[in-house]
Amino acid sequence: MNRKTLVAALVGLALLAAVPLMTSNSYYVHMVGTIMIYAILLYGLDIVVGYTGQVSLGHAGLFGVGSYTAGVLFMKLGAPLWVIIPASIAVTAAFGALLALPALRVTGPYLAMVTLAFGTIIQILINEMTFLTEGPLGITIPKPTVFGEKLTEHGFYWLTFGLMVLSLVVVDRILKSQLGRAFEALRGSPVASDCMGVSVYRYKVYAFVISAGFAGLAGCLYAYSEQYISPNTYNFELTVLFLLAVIMGGRKTRSGALLGAAIIVILPKLLDDLELFRIVAASLAVLMLVGGIIGVAKKITTPRAMAIPVVGTMALAGFAFWLQSITDWRLSIFGLMILFVVYYLQNGIVGFVRALFHVRKPVVRHSQADMGKDAISVAASAQAAEQGGNLLTAQGILMQFGGLKAINQVDLHIKRGTIHGLIGPNGSGKSTMMNVLTGIYVPTAGSIDFAGRSVVGRTSSDIALSGIARTFQNVQLFGEMTALQNVQVGLHHTFDSNIVDVALHTPRYKREETSAIQRGMGLLAFVGLADLADEEARNLPYGKQRLLEIARALALDPQLLLLDEPAAGLTAPDIKELITIIRKIRDHGITVILIEHHMDVVMGLCDTVSVLDFGQKIAEGKPVDVQADEKVIEAYLGGTVA
Ligand code: ADP
Ligand code: MG
Repeated sequence: MNRKTLVAALVGLALLAAVPLMTSNSYYVHMVGTIMIYAILLYGLDIVVGYTGQVSLGHAGLFGVGSYTAGVLFMKLGAPLWVIIPASIAVTAAFGALLALPALRVTGPYLAMVTLAFGTIIQILINEMTFLTEGPLGITIPKPTVFGEKLTEHGFYWLTFGLMVLSLVVVDRILKSQLGRAFEALRGSPVASDCMGVSVYRYKVYAFVISAGFAGLAGCLYAYSEQYISPNTYNFELTVLFLLAVIMGGRKTRSGALLGAAIIVILPKLLDDLELFRIVAASLAVLMLVGGIIGVAKKITTPRAMAIPVVGTMALAGFAFWLQSITDWRLSIFGLMILFVVYYLQNGIVGFVRALFHVRKPVVRHSQADMGKDAISVAASAQAAEQGGNLLTAQGILMQFGGLKAINQVDLHIKRGTIHGLIGPNGSGKSTMMNVLTGIYVPTAGSIDFAGRSVVGRTSSDIALSGIARTFQNVQLFGEMTALQNVQVGLHHTFDSNIVDVALHTPRYKREETSAIQRGMGLLAFVGLADLADEEARNLPYGKQRLLEIARALALDPQLLLLDEPAAGLTAPDIKELITIIRKIRDHGITVILIEHHMDVVMGLCDTVSVLDFGQKIAEGKPVDVQADEKVIEAYLGGTVA
């Protein structure tokens, strides 16, 4: 975070802390307190929605679990605050693990439905388990007692404020650590995450559990804040409001979550008061008009794109003044607002404001100065390379898709410290072979031995961690993350610190993070991308994206590196650079399997070449011999000439 944003955030928080001093009206104090409670929940929900890219309509249910853990513990056992807060967090986090189970199987609309069912079941359970929850009657809880004194409305406000700031710091630290990068990587490319040793399975569960923990804390505070809880609160409408708030405020921003929380609380009230609604609708129309004019002048958007939102907000303002009573129209206006946000504010209000004023997302700038020395760790693999022998042996590999034998009885022997070419016409099974070697597909038959262990049947992330790294034929970067962060995902295995280390910024975490930045910068420099460290991967030119994938793969400290058509789409100078880089990688003792269509690259680099055609190995040997082989010439003339 740069200094300006930090100052702005501190001023904002100070103002928030001073609210009870600015007004004597406890109604407003309570309202702002509720906004902060929802903000805590939204920080957590954003981990799931904004970072891992999953949908959850189960968070009102989790919120309810938090509230009822507090309510029941107080009612049945008279437990004190310092027991109730951790208990609510822990119990809700456990429910979060349950909610994660469907997310491991389904995504998108299906996940939305399953999580919605989860929320509904929780509400029904609260309603029916009267022996524990008193059912529809609800539970009454007084404000908590701290140091022998019952908190006043103001005292409780400051407690909420303190916990909100604490949550803010913890969430921010988690999201900026290796954990946050793992979450974001899931969204960018699940396949690549797994192949970088970041288990999609495990981090999806983590994300839901952590997210649920925050929902639990929020639920617990809500119970104390309202002093009465009943099942009706935790309904469908609330869960949709939560999701809307994250999207409307702006995902992947903490200020967006706070803004979203304010919307949840204020929107329903706004739609109750006609005078207020008129004022807001009119200001919105003016804002939209001014914003539109600035936007068009700065060439961020076109007059055509702005026409509908500007006319729309003006029509809304006109409508507001025409209305006599608002009650009948509440839901329709609400629905229209949702539509508007989904169509026109995909990055939320915070994202829109940033785009309007050209504010870049705050990022830490990195330069060559951050670079450490030994980016590629050589020791282990270089020694091994000298020992010679086979690093990988695949025997009798058969990969069948329905009736198609994509790979048919192929043997591969990869010598340590060599570059082994894998060539063949399009569709001959080269990429499939790579997917089999990295655990993306389990072969129908055959055995694969890598460094003395079998690969078949193990998960991609496990295989990756045992020393096989790869790039992808169609680039699989984590698009919204910077080049450096992409490489840091590859360095995930160098972290031992857990969530406590991350939250407290212990020396262990700081040391590991510093080293990850140094090694990351070193690896970027190795492929010539050090200047672009802070650029989002999706904004890099295609050739650079391919190089970035190589740097990310090297971060795994692999013994074996699989490159799937690394030169595809590269310009001639880029290809030259690539050849140099691949040679350097081999010189570091890393064994390489290279799939490539550019014959000059294959001939110049490879020690051995295997040729596939229709899933079968038709030739193998030194590049010159293979090139002269009749079967090979025929296969290429029959297919595409490379
Ligand atoms: P190459 O990389 O050599 O161009 P591939 O390994 O991508 O070829 O594909 C080999 C064959 O396997 C192709 O006919 C392709 O259509 C088929 N194939 C690859 N993956 C799948 C899959 N997941 N399901 C069905 N067929 C597949
Ligand atoms: Mg391919």
